[in-house]
Amino acid sequence: AAKYGCPADSIALGRGTWRLLHSMAAYYPDKPTVEVQNDMFAFIKIFSKFYPCPPCAEDFRNWLKSHTPDVSSRSGLSRWFCDAHNEVNVKLGKPEFDCNLIDQRWKDGWADGSCD
Ligand code: FAD
Repeated sequence: AAKYGCPADSIALGRGTWRLLHSMAAYYPDKPTVEVQNDMFAFIKIFSKFYPCPPCAEDFRNWLKSHTPDVSSRSGLSRWFCDAHNEVNVKLGKPEFDCNLIDQRWKDGWADGSCD
Protein backbone atom coordinates (compact mmCIF):
# COMPACT_ATOMS: atom_id res chain seq x y z
CA ALA A 1 0.00 0.00 0.00
CA ALA A 2 1.00 3.61 -0.49
CA LYS A 3 3.07 5.16 2.31
CA TYR A 4 0.99 6.78 5.03
CA GLY A 5 0.96 10.54 4.40
CA CYS A 6 1.11 10.00 0.63
CA PRO A 7 -1.81 9.75 -1.84
CA ALA A 8 -3.85 6.57 -1.37
CA ASP A 9 -3.43 3.80 -3.94
CA SER A 10 -6.20 1.24 -4.53
CA ILE A 11 -4.94 -0.91 -1.63
CA ALA A 12 -4.79 1.83 1.02
CA LEU A 13 -8.03 3.29 -0.28
CA GLY A 14 -9.77 -0.09 -0.18
CA ARG A 15 -8.60 -0.92 3.35
CA GLY A 16 -9.76 2.44 4.69
CA THR A 17 -13.05 2.30 2.83
CA TRP A 18 -14.01 -1.22 3.94
CA ARG A 19 -13.15 -0.18 7.47
CA LEU A 20 -15.61 2.70 7.16
CA LEU A 21 -18.35 0.72 5.40
CA HIS A 22 -18.30 -2.31 7.72
CA SER A 23 -18.18 0.02 10.74
CA MET A 24 -21.14 2.01 9.40
CA ALA A 25 -23.08 -1.25 9.12
CA ALA A 26 -22.07 -2.20 12.69
CA TYR A 27 -23.59 1.07 13.93
CA TYR A 28 -26.72 0.86 11.77
CA PRO A 29 -29.96 0.45 13.79
CA ASP A 30 -31.53 -2.97 14.33
CA LYS A 31 -34.88 -1.37 13.48
CA PRO A 32 -34.22 1.62 11.19
CA THR A 33 -37.03 4.02 10.34
CA VAL A 34 -38.10 4.24 6.72
CA GLU A 35 -36.24 7.55 6.47
CA VAL A 36 -33.02 5.97 7.73
CA GLN A 37 -33.44 3.05 5.32
CA ASN A 38 -33.94 5.46 2.43
CA ASP A 39 -30.88 7.47 3.46
CA MET A 40 -28.62 4.40 3.62
CA PHE A 41 -29.92 3.22 0.26
CA ALA A 42 -29.15 6.65 -1.22
CA PHE A 43 -25.72 6.72 0.45
CA ILE A 44 -24.74 3.42 -1.18
CA LYS A 45 -25.95 4.55 -4.60
CA ILE A 46 -24.10 7.84 -4.39
CA PHE A 47 -20.99 6.18 -2.92
CA SER A 48 -20.94 3.90 -5.99
CA LYS A 49 -20.68 6.97 -8.22
CA PHE A 50 -17.87 8.68 -6.34
CA TYR A 51 -15.62 5.86 -5.09
CA PRO A 52 -12.28 7.22 -6.28
CA CYS A 53 -11.09 4.14 -8.21
CA PRO A 54 -13.10 4.32 -11.45
CA PRO A 55 -12.80 0.66 -12.52
CA CYS A 56 -13.61 -0.51 -8.95
CA ALA A 57 -16.64 1.79 -8.82
CA GLU A 58 -17.88 0.59 -12.21
CA ASP A 59 -17.75 -3.07 -11.16
CA PHE A 60 -19.45 -2.20 -7.89
CA ARG A 61 -22.25 -0.38 -9.74
CA ASN A 62 -22.77 -3.42 -11.96
CA TRP A 63 -22.90 -5.73 -8.94
CA LEU A 64 -25.42 -3.40 -7.30
CA LYS A 65 -27.85 -3.92 -10.20
CA SER A 66 -28.40 -7.54 -9.18
CA HIS A 67 -27.80 -7.14 -5.42
CA THR A 68 -30.22 -4.64 -3.91
CA PRO A 69 -28.80 -3.26 -0.64
CA ASP A 70 -30.46 -4.84 2.41
CA VAL A 71 -31.13 -1.72 4.47
CA SER A 72 -33.81 -3.41 6.63
CA SER A 73 -31.59 -3.97 9.71
CA ARG A 74 -28.06 -3.85 11.12
CA SER A 75 -27.56 -7.58 10.57
CA GLY A 76 -28.96 -7.41 7.03
CA LEU A 77 -26.77 -4.48 6.05
CA SER A 78 -23.68 -6.05 7.64
CA ARG A 79 -24.29 -9.23 5.67
CA TRP A 80 -24.85 -7.28 2.46
CA PHE A 81 -21.54 -5.40 2.81
CA CYS A 82 -19.82 -8.70 3.64
CA ASP A 83 -21.16 -10.16 0.39
CA ALA A 84 -20.09 -7.04 -1.54
CA HIS A 85 -16.58 -7.30 -0.09
CA ASN A 86 -16.41 -11.03 -0.88
CA GLU A 87 -17.31 -10.28 -4.48
CA VAL A 88 -14.16 -8.14 -4.68
CA ASN A 89 -12.11 -10.72 -2.76
CA VAL A 90 -13.03 -13.37 -5.32
CA LYS A 91 -12.26 -11.04 -8.21
CA LEU A 92 -8.81 -10.36 -6.75
CA GLY A 93 -8.13 -14.05 -6.02
CA LYS A 94 -8.31 -13.57 -2.23
CA PRO A 95 -10.03 -15.96 0.19
CA GLU A 96 -13.66 -15.29 0.99
CA PHE A 97 -14.40 -14.03 4.49
CA ASP A 98 -16.81 -16.09 6.63
CA CYS A 99 -19.76 -13.70 7.00
CA ASN A 100 -20.84 -15.47 10.21
CA LEU A 101 -17.84 -13.74 11.82
CA ILE A 102 -18.78 -10.23 10.71
CA ASP A 103 -19.88 -8.97 14.14
CA GLN A 104 -16.71 -10.28 15.80
CA ARG A 105 -14.52 -8.63 13.16
CA TRP A 106 -16.30 -5.26 12.99
CA LYS A 107 -18.55 -4.84 16.04
CA ASP A 108 -17.83 -6.90 19.16
CA GLY A 109 -14.21 -8.05 18.81
CA TRP A 110 -13.03 -11.66 18.62
CA ALA A 111 -14.56 -14.23 20.97
CA ASP A 112 -11.08 -15.10 22.32
CA GLY A 113 -10.77 -11.60 23.82
CA SER A 114 -7.79 -10.66 21.63
CA CYS A 115 -9.31 -7.22 20.90
CA ASP A 116 -9.94 -6.34 24.57
P1 FAD B 1 -9.26 -5.67 2.46
O1 FAD B 1 -9.92 -6.45 1.36
O2 FAD B 1 -9.17 -4.19 2.31
O3 FAD B 1 -10.01 -6.04 3.81
C1 FAD B 1 -9.66 -5.43 5.06
C2 FAD B 1 -10.05 -6.36 6.18
O4 FAD B 1 -11.44 -6.61 6.10
C3 FAD B 1 -9.42 -7.74 6.08
O5 FAD B 1 -8.18 -7.79 6.69
C4 FAD B 1 -10.43 -8.63 6.78
O6 FAD B 1 -10.20 -8.65 8.18
C5 FAD B 1 -11.74 -7.93 6.54
N1 FAD B 1 -12.53 -8.58 5.50
C6 FAD B 1 -12.11 -9.23 4.37
N2 FAD B 1 -13.15 -9.62 3.65
C7 FAD B 1 -14.26 -9.23 4.32
C8 FAD B 1 -15.65 -9.38 4.08
N3 FAD B 1 -16.13 -10.01 2.99
N4 FAD B 1 -16.49 -8.85 4.97
C9 FAD B 1 -16.04 -8.24 6.10
N5 FAD B 1 -14.74 -8.07 6.38
C10 FAD B 1 -13.87 -8.57 5.49
N6 FAD B 1 -9.28 -3.37 -5.49
C11 FAD B 1 -8.92 -3.73 -6.72
O7 FAD B 1 -7.73 -3.99 -6.96
N7 FAD B 1 -9.85 -3.86 -7.74
C12 FAD B 1 -11.16 -3.60 -7.53
O8 FAD B 1 -11.98 -3.69 -8.46
C13 FAD B 1 -11.57 -3.17 -6.24
N8 FAD B 1 -12.87 -2.84 -6.00
C14 FAD B 1 -13.21 -2.34 -4.78
C15 FAD B 1 -14.51 -1.94 -4.56
C16 FAD B 1 -14.88 -1.38 -3.36
C17 FAD B 1 -16.32 -0.93 -3.17
C18 FAD B 1 -13.94 -1.23 -2.33
C19 FAD B 1 -14.32 -0.59 -1.02
C20 FAD B 1 -12.63 -1.66 -2.52
C21 FAD B 1 -12.25 -2.21 -3.74
N9 FAD B 1 -10.94 -2.65 -3.97
C22 FAD B 1 -10.57 -3.05 -5.22
C23 FAD B 1 -9.94 -2.69 -2.87
C24 FAD B 1 -9.83 -4.12 -2.30
O9 FAD B 1 -11.13 -4.63 -1.94
C25 FAD B 1 -8.96 -4.18 -1.03
O10 FAD B 1 -9.42 -3.21 -0.10
C26 FAD B 1 -7.48 -3.96 -1.26
O11 FAD B 1 -7.01 -4.85 -2.25
C27 FAD B 1 -6.67 -4.19 0.05
O12 FAD B 1 -6.90 -5.55 0.44
P2 FAD B 1 -6.48 -6.14 1.82
O13 FAD B 1 -6.04 -7.56 1.53
O14 FAD B 1 -5.57 -5.26 2.56
O15 FAD B 1 -7.83 -6.27 2.70
